[in-house]
Amino acid sequence: MFERPEAPKGARNFVLLVLDSCRYDSFVAARPTVMGKIGEIERRTSYASWTSPSHFNLLMGLLPHRSPKHIFASAYYKSELAGLAHRLGIPEMGLVDMVPRLWLPHFLRNSLGYHTRAIVSMPVLNGHTPLNVDFDSWELAPAHNDLSAMIPMMKFSDERPTFMLLNTGETHYPYACPDEPESEWPVINGVHGVFKKAGGGSMLTQTEVGFDQDKLNTLRARQIHTVEWVDRVVSDLIDALPANTWLTITADHGELFGESGYFGHGPILHDKVLEVPFVEGLIR
Ligand SMILES: [Zn+2]
Repeated sequence: MFERPEAPKGARNFVLLVLDSCRYDSFVAARPTVMGKIGEIERRTSYASWTSPSHFNLLMGLLPHRSPKHIFASAYYKSELAGLAHRLGIPEMGLVDMVPRLWLPHFLRNSLGYHTRAIVSMPVLNGHTPLNVDFDSWELAPAHNDLSAMIPMMKFSDERPTFMLLNTGETHYPYACPDEPESEWPVINGVHGVFKKAGGGSMLTQTEVGFDQDKLNTLRARQIHTVEWVDRVVSDLIDALPANTWLTITADHGELFGESGYFGHGPILHDKVLEVPFVEGLIR
């Protein structure tokens, strides 16, 4: 029987909000006032160009990186883990317990006594995938594009801190806010992914797209609009968070809107598929 240890005194809740497919310059173009107040908005680089490997990486505790020069990867990873201790409010946190499993939810739950929870919107992250290991709960949101519906699903405890992974898909193709009926979503012939039926998590390639740049420009404007929408919802999210919570907002990968002949994300090698926004700070 797994016995959860007492959490260190002062350990913070840690909420990691992933805006699926939100590319950095779309985020900035939306001029997010709520998210912009959390901390400095950084342009960071995702380790992967699509949802599953990127979330695996995030759950190893390695958030999008700064592409630092003149430093060995091992030294950078060490500094990243020190950053994690800062986020959690546990400066004396030992890192040896991350080894050999190298899995943040396991470390938080088994070594630091956290509750570990996830609410995800992309079906490619569904609870049958191996990503949910060491989570106390892993739920699929009722819609792929409605962060506001996740807010009442969040559970925190007075007894011990919680790690909460939220993945929301307003910013994912078709870049639709929840107030827009599905009948009005854009349709581009041939653009659908492996997971079309489930509404997200798709891998899109240029060979499936008609290269109508006007339409792709419209799609980029739609992604910017979804960031504006999410920014307002984040205000409600923050109101729902308990005191002593660290909030990190980022994306799992970027998105291409016709640059160099690419659309979407996945099997793409291009800066814009790796550029993601990153902002974080202590909420109350
Ligand atoms: Zn994704």
